[in-house]
Amino acid sequence: MFAFDNSYARLPERFYTKMAPKPVAAPEWIALNEELARELGLDPAALRGAPEIFAGNRLPEGADPLAQLYAGHQFGGWSPQLGDGRAILLGEHVHDGRRYDVQLKGSGPTPYSRMGDGRAALGPVIREYVVSEAMAALGLPTTRALAAVRTGEDVLRQEGPQPGAVLTRIAASHIRVGTFQVFASRDDTDALRLLLEHAIVRHAPDAEGPMDLLRHVMRVQADLIARWMGLGFIHGVMNTDNMTISGETIDYGPCAFMETYHPDTVFSSIDQFGRYAWKNQPDIALWNLAQLATSLLPLMGERQTAIAEATEVLDGFRDLYEASWGRVMSAKIGVDDMSLAMELLDIMSEGEGDFTNTFRALTVAPDAARDQVMNRDRFDDWFARWQARDPDGDAMARANPAIIPRNHRVEEAIAAGYAGDLAAFHALNAVLADPWRETEENVAYRRPATAEERVMRTFC
Ligand code: AMP
Ligand code: MG
Ligand code: MG
Repeated sequence: MFAFDNSYARLPERFYTKMAPKPVAAPEWIALNEELARELGLDPAALRGAPEIFAGNRLPEGADPLAQLYAGHQFGGWSPQLGDGRAILLGEHVHDGRRYDVQLKGSGPTPYSRMGDGRAALGPVIREYVVSEAMAALGLPTTRALAAVRTGEDVLRQEGPQPGAVLTRIAASHIRVGTFQVFASRDDTDALRLLLEHAIVRHAPDAEGPMDLLRHVMRVQADLIARWMGLGFIHGVMNTDNMTISGETIDYGPCAFMETYHPDTVFSSIDQFGRYAWKNQPDIALWNLAQLATSLLPLMGERQTAIAEATEVLDGFRDLYEASWGRVMSAKIGVDDMSLAMELLDIMSEGEGDFTNTFRALTVAPDAARDQVMNRDRFDDWFARWQARDPDGDAMARANPAIIPRNHRVEEAIAAGYAGDLAAFHALNAVLADPWRETEENVAYRRPATAEERVMRTFC
């Protein structure tokens, strides 16, 4: 089924705990991502016939299952040991010269579970499936959802017992900033060096050492965060264990796309102080990258020189980010003028413009765009100056989607799923697969939430 070549499993034993997923009572399909299966060179019919593999009840041939060790800063506080508390890496599937982690999430307790049950409830599995696939369709680097199955077992959550589910996540790798941190914090320089070599082979084959890897991760993360920002995406839990070395978006917990634009927007119920608010994401990325740099220091030679050089490299993040953000915003307004773009954002925040629909209206129906905001005089003044610049409509059409996974739609799919009905989930996936066009099918998905539908808080 999979063409496994398990390079992480060949690293020393202190990188992980080898163990199989814990079988569940009654595996049953929620969804199989047939298109992704084909992209990976897998036969959808063969996968379809084997839900027990995606529940963790049977190991596919060639799997070498393990739970990965990592650490991390959570909301700025240091956690010396995290690790896969509810996930098992089955192995690395190799197709067309590319390597993909195949991981089950919700697959039972591991030595890293701490107080958790190792399981996932149906709701968060639906959310990760929908939003990660939407991100992929929007063209952003992201982990993918290959499959989701019910377990036939309940998991206990704050709201009471909930149906359990397992998600199969595909990723370029699951190496995180926190994977480097765990070995650095243990003064395990040998492990750090092996992890560095492993990460370079997988993600930055041209890198010649730790400083180059740092530069590479800075580049891919600067670009990723700028692209999140350009879609109004708020990750919600940008802890160092949720930031990949690959540059893929990972861990869709209390994430959300903002509707009404405001830079301070936060959704996550656990983000009390707005640490991971929309506007803070670039600064947080740099903070996380500084933790990566610190972890790599023992591999960078003489310490004082290394600190000076790494600091200089980190100082370059601002420029990297501004360059990516400039590209994103120039495309969104079709004019290469950052002050014009920032002025529009300011007008939108004052005039309560819907982030997605304001840019989309400028793209497909510019004369009606003023209807998207309440401060129309100010908008009209901006609009006249913008039109005089002869905006590039093709660039705008590629940068401004018609639809995003609106929170009330995601919540609706989750609520229906809990009630035993997956139709809303499948319908949402279907429209989000083609986010770049207005169609008859997606009319209802383009509308912002009404006051009653509005989601103020998200939970993970
Ligand atoms: P997250 O906030 O999703 O990044 O998770 C942080 C840490 O908590 C990771 O080590 C997870 O594996 C662990 N974790 C989250 N939920 C559970 C659960 N239900 N059981 C065990 N560990 C969990
Ligand atoms: Mg995580
Ligand atoms: Mg999570």
